[in-house]
Amino acid sequence: LELSSERVSEIFGINVFDTATMQKYVSHRAYESLLKSIRENTKIQRTDADEIAAGMKAWAIERGATHYTHWFQPLTGATAEKHDSFIDFDSHRKPFENFDGRELVQQEPDASSFPSGGIRSTFEARGYTAWDASSPAFIIGDTLCIPTIFVSYTGEALDYKTPLLKALSALNKAATAVANYFDTSVGHVYATLGWEQEFFLVDEALYLARPDLVLTGRTLMGHSSSKDQQLNDHYFGAIPERVKRFLIHLEIEALKLGIPIKTRHNEVAPGQFEIAPIFEEVNISVDHNLLIMALMQEIARIHRFRVLLHEKPFKGINGSGKHNNWSLMTDTGINLLKPCKKHTGNLMFLTFLVNVIKTVYDSQDLIRASVMTHSNAHRLGAHEAPPAIISVFIGKHLTQVVKKLERLDGPDDESEIEKSLEIDLGNIPEILLDNTDRNRTSPFAFTGNRFEFRAVGSQTNCSSPMIALNTALAAQLSQFKQEVDHLLNSGKDKESAVLEVLGKYIKQSKNILFEGNNYSDEWKDEAKHRGLSNITNVPEAMQAYLRPETIQLFESTGVLTKKEIQARYNILMENYVLNTQIEARVLGDLAINHIIPTAVKYQNDLLDNVLKMKQLFPDQLEELAGNRLDIIKEISMRINEIKKLVGEMVEKRKSANKIEDITQKAIVYSSEINPYLDKVRYHIDKLELIVDNTMWPLPKYRELLFLR
Ligand code: ADP
Ligand code: MG
Repeated sequence: LELSSERVSEIFGINVFDTATMQKYVSHRAYESLLKSIRENTKIQRTDADEIAAGMKAWAIERGATHYTHWFQPLTGATAEKHDSFIDFDSHRKPFENFDGRELVQQEPDASSFPSGGIRSTFEARGYTAWDASSPAFIIGDTLCIPTIFVSYTGEALDYKTPLLKALSALNKAATAVANYFDTSVGHVYATLGWEQEFFLVDEALYLARPDLVLTGRTLMGHSSSKDQQLNDHYFGAIPERVKRFLIHLEIEALKLGIPIKTRHNEVAPGQFEIAPIFEEVNISVDHNLLIMALMQEIARIHRFRVLLHEKPFKGINGSGKHNNWSLMTDTGINLLKPCKKHTGNLMFLTFLVNVIKTVYDSQDLIRASVMTHSNAHRLGAHEAPPAIISVFIGKHLTQVVKKLERLDGPDDESEIEKSLEIDLGNIPEILLDNTDRNRTSPFAFTGNRFEFRAVGSQTNCSSPMIALNTALAAQLSQFKQEVDHLLNSGKDKESAVLEVLGKYIKQSKNILFEGNNYSDEWKDEAKHRGLSNITNVPEAMQAYLRPETIQLFESTGVLTKKEIQARYNILMENYVLNTQIEARVLGDLAINHIIPTAVKYQNDLLDNVLKMKQLFPDQLEELAGNRLDIIKEISMRINEIKKLVGEMVEKRKSANKIEDITQKAIVYSSEINPYLDKVRYHIDKLELIVDNTMWPLPKYRELLFLR
């Protein structure tokens, strides 16, 4: 396998029914009408849908597809598909390949076992998938996959894509209106996303010998390896040959699916890697990330690896995240978060920059909640990962600019506003160019032409943070427009009005700006002092979804209704409880059925040895076998502790499971059951250090982490 640049252009997108391919398979009229319906967000005519379905079918069959599926994103976090064959029978029972507009546009999968958070009880289990024409269909294996949204019979969103599309549409409206203050040629604004996907690879055979990895995605026990990441020799080091073959294979398949993969490198921890594409429009980029996560797992098996997408598969070494690089782009090709040389351009840049800062300040709790999961909670707030305190880094120079702006607040400040016109905005790009001061510890950093949200977990569906950020920014920009319009109506000129409102925003939200080390304890104190929230546990973080201001935000932008929010909250909390429950069960099982019996066996060997020693050297027992007696005692002590703790954990679970209220239940799981995972593990990891290596029933960290 190799990947040369000519080949890239030869294979790029060959498994995608993109607009260029579509043009070859459908009439110009149908093609134009599809583009129009995407642009204007309107329903496509049935006859056009029929024609597009026919074109799609012809193309897919030519490429070897025999089945099709609606591909959607239920709230379980993964993607779902239900395959149907193209085959159908005519009235003479003659088989033919059928797929028309009806099947393309809408399906009704038997969706009763997808979570709905109470919106839909199983007896009215109807859910619909509906075609998202803005994300192109693609082929995987023998199946044509059609990206769709997933909604209940009564129209509530049961997925991530529905609210994402609504959030992006709200953002477009609000951002276009604001951009038009500065540039009337802007007709459309779309958000862009470039994700950086981190993951671990482990050898398949070793993976299969670790029931905790298989069942929970992370190691629930395992003493740290004497060497792991302390020498930093893995980061950007040479990629091992076997891994390289896997990565190249993955890249080829990704490119065929039109995913513009560009970067691959080793990460900090041994066995950890990262891939990143060139950024794309958010909806497409999210689909591509979900696709690549599925693709990785499949291709890894061919190479006898398994991919770990869990945020913290190994204790004590770095976890995996998925930085979300996020910006706004106009249909005229302007990146709204990129400083530019012209004065008005920079005022536009500052407008969007400051509105993002205010958005993050006002919605810090919602933004955190959007990335908080049972698994990502191991990262957030732990010291090497983004902190659970949300703050924004903008760099030294922009901090100065923003401070100047702040002084412009207040309508009485006429002289200052005069001076504002002297702010040398034109200097920004030059200075930013050498501003290499990229604060790696910030959870939300401005990196020259975009923001990089670093708290997103490696297995999270990017839709979740993208829904929160784009919705909150849409609402913020609408508010900004209202305030500026108000000043304009009272006779202010545009520039003064914009600067005045921006100045006020900075004054209100500057506490979110932080340039120092986000991992330090001083920052925790300082943040508390500033009134920023610092929430590291899942149930508490999730409360942000139910606050009146969150519901108001989602309802006013038309992204989610109160009922939908409540349902999603229920699902997220239920998900948290179930995952913690599974971990507790797996750990209990491994402790009682794998670890204790092994420790007892080894202890028996020692006892045997001591007994024989006693027979042969009755007077020198303490001298010759004293240390074995100590080990025997330590094993007994640890076994007793493990048994006792596992017993307590089971009892706590039993009583927690009786709690009806999902919030209360999750709180009990978090505060009373979760801590047992660490307590039990502690003794197991100590046993690992003393028990005969040949007896230890599970592969150890030193074996799992180093790939050959
Ligand atoms: P680093 O590791 O230094 O943060 P990478 O090159 O690994 O940088 O990733 C940067 C990501 O940011 C890429 O996916 C890139 O396409 C993306 N990106 C660059 N510009 C934008 C933008 N305007 N909007 C969204 N993403 C962007
Ligand atoms: Mg990055």
